[in-house]
Amino acid sequence: QKAQIGVTGLAVMGANLARNFARHGYTVALHNRSVSKTDALLEAHGSEGNFIRTETLQELVDSLETPRRILVMVKAGAPVDAVIEQLVPLLEKDDIIIDGGNSYFQDTRRRERELAAQGIDFVGVGVSGGEEGALLGPSIMPGGPRKSYDALGPLLEDIAAKAEDGKPCCAWIDTDGAGHFVKMVHNGIEYADMQVIGEAHELLRAVAGLEPGEQAEVFEQWNTTELASYLIEITAHVLRQVDARTGAPLIDVIVDAAGQKGTGRWTVQEALELGSPVTAIAESVFARALSSAEPEMRLEAQRVLPAGIGGTTEDVVHDPEFVEDVRKALYASKLVSYAQGLDMLTMAGAEYGWDLDLATIASLWREGCIIRAQLLEVIMEAYQGEAAPANLLFAPQFVAAIEDALPSWRRVVARAVERGIPAPVFASTLNYYDSLRRPRLNAALTQGLRDYFGAHTYRRTDDAEGVYHTLWSGDRSEVVA
Ligand code: NDP
Repeated sequence: QKAQIGVTGLAVMGANLARNFARHGYTVALHNRSVSKTDALLEAHGSEGNFIRTETLQELVDSLETPRRILVMVKAGAPVDAVIEQLVPLLEKDDIIIDGGNSYFQDTRRRERELAAQGIDFVGVGVSGGEEGALLGPSIMPGGPRKSYDALGPLLEDIAAKAEDGKPCCAWIDTDGAGHFVKMVHNGIEYADMQVIGEAHELLRAVAGLEPGEQAEVFEQWNTTELASYLIEITAHVLRQVDARTGAPLIDVIVDAAGQKGTGRWTVQEALELGSPVTAIAESVFARALSSAEPEMRLEAQRVLPAGIGGTTEDVVHDPEFVEDVRKALYASKLVSYAQGLDMLTMAGAEYGWDLDLATIASLWREGCIIRAQLLEVIMEAYQGEAAPANLLFAPQFVAAIEDALPSWRRVVARAVERGIPAPVFASTLNYYDSLRRPRLNAALTQGLRDYFGAHTYRRTDDAEGVYHTLWSGDRSEVVA
């Protein structure tokens, strides 16, 4: 019997995806560069389904029905190219190589182009949900040639997470790197979700005086509101955890230096290329950098830099209204963060020729991935139907939600600023919101200055066509540029 799918790269992700396929009744051919991983997997889980053990890529290829479907789950970067290079001579036209790792989308675009020239379909697939998701049902974002999805889609949809309406969290995104691009932005949004939860946590403590254990109850309650989500749920778990060694809340013994593996940074780098103002994601990436990049500088800053008026951590106010303000601010900030991320997808679609369906994309994030949340159901609905909003915030239900949250949001940001408590995402999302709706931006002065020192020209409000320059170092008359 031939296998319907082959998996090469059997570290945690590959092994769990292979098991997931097998548990869904597929015969799965297994391959790993070092055979010991293959054998370890078979030893521990071989009874879960039909597996074919292979030692070489030739054996892997020979064990598969055609067109072959080979899922590559090796380390992102050069290893993916190395595996492709070894596979291609063994394959036939219309075989499909699937890269399910966290590959950079530009690499995926290049690989699809190169392989298409050789008649091989290359599909870059964003897989989210970590180790557990891979086994029990991840959120899956496949790109690649449309025709390959006919042969591949049904398998991926089988192993994907299922949303409440029963639909799989897997759908074709668009050609070449679209799947990996959407996965990258998903990770960026995840950074912002976590950062803004962190800001709420800090304000609840510094302003409202709530200890971690008390906060766990607050987050648990918030998880029954429109904030309901996996990250809010596990925030309560982390805040409730007591350190066995010291008896202190675990959160107080964890070093406050956040790590990152790079997908947030990619999102911001790409946003800069596109000119897409994803301020929430950028602030989140920078917040992690500030927390960890220069620890000595942080220590010196604590010694030498003054707090200024109000910038003390005393006068705690046990004020339930403030707690509710933080909840509403968190929701509003989260909405802006999603609006920014989805807008980045639209801009990328225009740049790379993808027709990205935001309702579908939101629907894929409803289950299986780290940012899964009730909100995604509402976002999906906002983009369904005839008149999709140009910006998520314009959807009537979100206009109403922001209107309700605004007084709280402004109070929270003001309080944080007064008290010297950093809240970069609460503040930057509010700045974005206020900038977006402001009739005139101070960009006019920027243009005036650029024209002054660099003759960069400007346009006039009373002339849609013309480009002008003022002779700043001459008689200061205006000329048509
Ligand atoms: P790793 O990223 O740790 O990669 C290890 C695997 O890559 C091993 O099977 C290893 O083989 C293989 N490998 C490395 N170099 C080569 C090479 N030159 N040729 C052939 N095989 C090679 O594994 P993970 O399972 O953690 O992740 C796989 C992919 O999934 C990555 O792109 C990762 O970013 C992504 N991902 C991971 C998530 C996670 O939670 N871990 C979540 C979502 C995506 P060998 O055993 O022989 O060394």
